[in-house]
Amino acid sequence: MNNEELWKAALGEIELSISKANYTTWFKNTNILSKQEGQITISVTNAFTKEWLENKYNKLILKALRNVSKDVKEIIYIINYKKDDASTENKEKKKKKKLSEKTEIRMPEEQLNFNQIKIDKKTNLNPRYTFENFIVASFNELAYAASQSIIKTPGQTYNPLFIYGGVGVGKTHLLQAIGNEIIKSDPTKKIIYVSSEKFTDDVISAIFKNEMDKLKNYYRKIDVLIIDDIQFLAGKEKTQEEFFHTFNTLYENNKQIILSSDRPPKAIPTLEERLRSRFEGGMIADIGSPDIETRIVILKSKLKDLNLELPDEILNYISTNIQKNIRELEGALNRIIAFMKLNDIVPNQNQVIKILKNIISDPQKRTNYKDIIKIVASFYDLDAGDLTNRSRKKEIVKPRQIAMYLLREELKSSYPFIGLKLGGRDHTTAIYACEKIGKEKEANNSLEEELSLIRQRLYNHASLSS
Ligand code: ADP
Ligand code: MG
Repeated sequence: MNNEELWKAALGEIELSISKANYTTWFKNTNILSKQEGQITISVTNAFTKEWLENKYNKLILKALRNVSKDVKEIIYIINYKKDDASTENKEKKKKKKLSEKTEIRMPEEQLNFNQIKIDKKTNLNPRYTFENFIVASFNELAYAASQSIIKTPGQTYNPLFIYGGVGVGKTHLLQAIGNEIIKSDPTKKIIYVSSEKFTDDVISAIFKNEMDKLKNYYRKIDVLIIDDIQFLAGKEKTQEEFFHTFNTLYENNKQIILSSDRPPKAIPTLEERLRSRFEGGMIADIGSPDIETRIVILKSKLKDLNLELPDEILNYISTNIQKNIRELEGALNRIIAFMKLNDIVPNQNQVIKILKNIISDPQKRTNYKDIIKIVASFYDLDAGDLTNRSRKKEIVKPRQIAMYLLREELKSSYPFIGLKLGGRDHTTAIYACEKIGKEKEANNSLEEELSLIRQRLYNHASLSS
């Protein structure tokens, strides 16, 4: 058996025992350079991989090699830089650094802000949100396609366009890119982008100042009205009423309305029925979460915009470990970039882990039963106390069962514990709830979706509070 065959056989085994992402990240471009008296030399392409294999996978590799060839005793890893590889540059830089001074490595204290913004006063649009820097993949392609058709003929294809999805997946970016694009092709178009909080503030202050007519005129002369995070209108009756009238006026005049929310219209509690049915009368498109390949593409495109490069291993590490949303992905990247600017080196494995340790966390360990109850309650517009009391009101029963289900799934809590914390119930009630939600989720897509939106909030919450 030659070295190549030996390595191939060992890799076959390694591949079975780790995730695909890890396998490609760490074992791609590795080779056995030599085998002498039980000592195997493996070549890797950069320092990052070398350290990682030495520290994390040495045992696994040794075992896999021994299964194929019993006489293997020891492995050494050496870096075999390829020409024109980003890491060559990195090596040069590191060398220079070492020769010139022995500086202390500094960690960035807070995220640097690379996107100094200037918001257009008239439209309220931020010019940084464009389609040029918006990556389209299967998780957002429906929302993207709908946007494109709206840009071509605003007010005439899908009205309203309703985009929903979890935190940090690109709703605001998409909404604003639509606005920027429409303005670009027709600067005479009147476009207004507002958050639903701003819209609410405007309505309330107009009521106080007795300037409702002024406000009506302002909003009703618009060609394209974009309102972000419409879920915050929930429970605000007066605002909803004003919005309903504005909506109708614009709609009847074929003006485009674009809305975003963290959930579909039917899942927004205390949204007036007439508004809900208006929203459902247009196009509803969701944005999901990008898969790992897409996360890498997004990172690469952000780097390209900044004229920077990073070794694939670092990009893979970020993408493997940060799965929740694009905002976090950017946050991680910004930290790494800040580190590079501060120290003038590409971080090694341990440094990357250190830099990202506050962002990367195991959500299961970080969340706790109180957070789950709180987040489920707020998702359904209830108080945590509603779930932990004994009430059997219909609108409370389902959220409570969902909280039970998530306690079981996310924390592996025991049934007696779950029963106790959610209204001092018996463990059989908890078992029943978990089974019921588990079954219903299979049969009911919208429940499945609600669960995933709640989980996203939970994970975001967990990572924010870490
Ligand atoms: P949301 O409004 O859904 O919470 P944002 O639109 O604020 O999310 O997006 C969070 C960050 O991720 C922003 O900096 C945005 O530019 C970036 N982003 C979102 N979607 C994409 C995408 N498809 N391609 C590139 N960057 C994206
Ligand atoms: Mg947003």
